[in-house]
Amino acid sequence: MIPVKGYAALSAGKPLEPFQFSRRDPEPHDIVIEILYCGICHSDIHQARNEWGGSMFPMVPGHEIVGRVTQIGKKVRRFKKGSLAGVGCFVDSCRVCPACKRQEQQFCKVHTAFTYSSTEMDLKTPTQGGYSSHTVVHEDYALKIPKNMPLERTAPLLCAGITTYSPLRQWKVGKNQKVGVIGLGGLGHMAVKLAASMRADVTVFSTSLSKEADARRLGAQHFVNTKHEGTLAALKGKFQFILNTVSAPHDLGSYLELLDVKGVMVLVGVPPKATDIHAFSLIMGNRRLAGSLIGGIRQTQEMLNYCAKKKVYCDVEVIPASGINEAYERVLKGNVHYRAVIDASTF
Ligand code: NAP
Ligand code: ZN
Ligand code: ZN
Repeated sequence: MIPVKGYAALSAGKPLEPFQFSRRDPEPHDIVIEILYCGICHSDIHQARNEWGGSMFPMVPGHEIVGRVTQIGKKVRRFKKGSLAGVGCFVDSCRVCPACKRQEQQFCKVHTAFTYSSTEMDLKTPTQGGYSSHTVVHEDYALKIPKNMPLERTAPLLCAGITTYSPLRQWKVGKNQKVGVIGLGGLGHMAVKLAASMRADVTVFSTSLSKEADARRLGAQHFVNTKHEGTLAALKGKFQFILNTVSAPHDLGSYLELLDVKGVMVLVGVPPKATDIHAFSLIMGNRRLAGSLIGGIRQTQEMLNYCAKKKVYCDVEVIPASGINEAYERVLKGNVHYRAVIDASTF
């Protein structure tokens, strides 16, 4: 077994604390990764606090992992000792069901082994995430990190990057389309950069007036402070595509009304509680409401290659492991610009 140092939540809502555990010795197709950086996603907070239900403890969160391969199993082909590797939100799946065959392993019909708060394919062994010094993963579920990417700014692409890239591609967002991004946090700032790189006309909807200059620097043409009464009413019917990244309950109806005929709003944010929608919000204008869950391995690799080519990276604040709990509080206040990333040498 490989001894690992990390940080864990021992039960729901408890501050994270230093935690030692072990990972399996590499099987023939496994790689051992010395983790260099791991981003803090808002999903880590939802899960460490059991806000969605079903959390498993002790929990080592973290699914935005970049590191260096230190050991390889006998049959590993895709990585060498010393290669860079990334791990995102899942570490295994059945490989043979229709979803796996379509390279949408996040929808595996048998079981998706999520990176933490989940189990391996035996449905028994708990998985533990990237707030840790090392991880072990089957080579088919690791991503290649293109050359010359700044690694701390690349780690959050493994969740925030793919979660925003995937719906932009699915709904074919492109040149001059009017795109709205609701919430300028980890996901939101990547949505702005990516949509702008696809030459869309981007509007940020934010509760934080202080983020206007950043929104424009990131590539948005317009900024709407949603705390200002009446601002949404003036924009009814103007958007073809809206990506909703908000992590807390809010009124969906007022944003659906911003959609043009047959426009779509895709939910990626997961507020802990349900919200009501009036049927007219969708019926008028044949509007559509959709969702999107991360992305499969093939598309995640495509996104990394795209970001390397376009030099699209996350804006990050690098923190030591001892700063995780403080970072959680700052994420909840919407104060991180725009992703906190743990320096894994500090575990
Ligand atoms: P984040 O960094 O905290 O960003 C969320 C942003 O939402 C905040 O910065 C804030 O932006 C806005 N916001 C927060 N509370 C709000 C409220 N009460 N009303 C309106 N706006 C509010 O979080 P994140 O890491 O980007 O994650 C966002 C959500 O996506 C989380 O729920 C997370 O679990 C989910 N997620 C889903 C997937 C998926 O596959 N679907 C993947 C990753 C994450 P402003 O300051 O600009 O208002
Ligand atoms: Zn995430
Ligand atoms: Zn499957």
